[in-house]
Amino acid sequence: MTKNERLIQELSELDKKHFLHPISPIKQQQEDGAAFIFTEGKGVHLYDLNGNCYIDGMSSLWNVNVGHGREELGKTAMEQMQKLAYSSNFSTFSNEPAIRLSAKLAQIAPKGLSATFFASGGSEANDTAYKLVRNYWLLKGKPSKKKIISQTKSYHGVSMGATSTGLKPYREFTNSLAPDFCYVEHFSAQALRELIETEGADTIAAFISEPVQGAGGVHIAPENYFKEVREICDEYEILFITDEVITAFGRTGKDFGIEHYGVTPDVMCFAKGVTSGYLPLGGVMLSEEIHQDFIELSEGTMLHGYTYSGHPTACAVGLKNIEMIENENLTENAKVMGKEMLNGFNWLKSNLEIIGEVRGLGLMGAIEIVKDQVTQEKFDSPVSPLIVGEAAKRGLICRSVIFDGQDTLVFAPPLIINKTEIEEMTSILYDSILAVERQMVQ
Ligand code: PLP
Repeated sequence: MTKNERLIQELSELDKKHFLHPISPIKQQQEDGAAFIFTEGKGVHLYDLNGNCYIDGMSSLWNVNVGHGREELGKTAMEQMQKLAYSSNFSTFSNEPAIRLSAKLAQIAPKGLSATFFASGGSEANDTAYKLVRNYWLLKGKPSKKKIISQTKSYHGVSMGATSTGLKPYREFTNSLAPDFCYVEHFSAQALRELIETEGADTIAAFISEPVQGAGGVHIAPENYFKEVREICDEYEILFITDEVITAFGRTGKDFGIEHYGVTPDVMCFAKGVTSGYLPLGGVMLSEEIHQDFIELSEGTMLHGYTYSGHPTACAVGLKNIEMIENENLTENAKVMGKEMLNGFNWLKSNLEIIGEVRGLGLMGAIEIVKDQVTQEKFDSPVSPLIVGEAAKRGLICRSVIFDGQDTLVFAPPLIINKTEIEEMTSILYDSILAVERQMVQ
């Protein structure tokens, strides 16, 4: 056994025994061990302990926007840590990176969003939004307005509130949910109106939506959907929250996903791409109007805040990351490379038998797997996980979405990806899908 083989064996055994992985098949992990132990990342590539190289077709978890191994971010973190790694922001304490990042966000966010509450990730950001909008209606003298409406196929994270607005399998996992949440068919403005009428607008605090549903299978809203949502929210005095945890910071080819739809939310949540995943950071932005209302109406203390709200090092890295996205024109690159990626998906569709709908917005994309291209009939059991396995063997990491009868491959490569790397992705996908197609028709 080589030294490296011994290391792999040792880590795999420790992994099985001690490392409870997030969102993972716990039994399979025990049987298989850690299939990929990543050791290094560079650009769009990840490397594992076996010496294999992969295109990170998911930006890991939709978040490594500027790509792996960016020394500038490491340097920024080190400098900030040496100066002031951490200090509290409770009450009137503050720090320069958090102040500057909140000002930068106000400058680039959709018009009107002006004040940021920081959290450490997307779930915390969404839970914060739910608490703040409820507190807002309390302050406005409307305490009955407390329900939050989310959509089927939405994913907003796994903290208690976020789970309660999320995908059904996640809701069922925890057996009991937080109260005052309800669900509506995704991307149906009519269904939203009907639900509000049934529940009563005086019981509803807010409606939340991702601009593009990510974990739910990369579903892109119809062109007019968010305009109608905005009108409905205004008509019934309901706050509109967008969850931009995946779609912000260039991912869809615009700075923020909602900009494709020409409307502004009252509240916007972000995380992931704000630091490209280099440090945990998230947040909630409030419109200037809501911020002013809080200032005028709050009498006591805002009793919500995390130890790491406005973490100086995370905020310094966030600022540097946004500067890199701007200086390297990565939002524009996501738009242009997103079109290349979608062209590649369409080429695959015309050259393979088992591809149904393909879709994409910027560098978020999806390929549906079907048994029959004409009728769009699906296979009896999902096939996309087999393709994910074949793609990994050939050096591409992507993901499958199979809940709710779906059989879909999803993609979100780093925003620095170039045409050659997109072509390589397409070529690996062709070989991987063909290999599975042959198994299926045998
Ligand atoms: N919201 C959306 C749209 C997400 O995709 C995610 C995570 O994938 C979250 C919220 C939760 O973020 P986190 O995992 O950082 O808590």
